[in-house]
Amino acid sequence: MSSTELPHLEPVTEADRQVIAEQLGRPPRALRAVAARCPGGHPSVVQTSPRLENGTPFPTLYYLTCPRLTALVGTLEANGVMREMTDRLAVDEDLAAHYLRAHREYLAARDAIDPLGHEVTAGGMPGRVKCLHVHLAHTLACGPGANPFGDETVALLAGDWPSGDCAAAPR
Ligand SMILES: [Zn+2]
Repeated sequence: MSSTELPHLEPVTEADRQVIAEQLGRPPRALRAVAARCPGGHPSVVQTSPRLENGTPFPTLYYLTCPRLTALVGTLEANGVMREMTDRLAVDEDLAAHYLRAHREYLAARDAIDPLGHEVTAGGMPGRVKCLHVHLAHTLACGPGANPFGDETVALLAGDWPSGDCAAAPR
């Protein structure tokens, strides 16, 4: 594993917890760390425990919380980009290998915290592209190269990337 794929994790402060609750519209569950922040300073990605407090498996390890980014990614998804990404996996061996590596590293990081006893990760990895929020969160948490579709999502959103205070819901 290269150093670019190690997440930079920060402890969740009480102020972060309040912002995340506002972002999500509910108390955050199973928070472990802040894994990325927006330019405005608020959390954009959190790392969550593989199980919720009540023991229910929660396989998504990196969760996108910024409402502005979440909305931008939702718009991309609505434009059908995931179908085209999934189609490319069948014809681009390098892309498929990179995506498989992303899946394995995601699983290894999660298993190091609390193994769920299965190899299902998130977002459709490793064979399909089903949720760009998952892939963007992975790339923001672990750095460029961690997830090829997270990297592509960063590039697609580059012109719209939030620069100021985007903790409030987008209008
Ligand atoms: Zn934001």
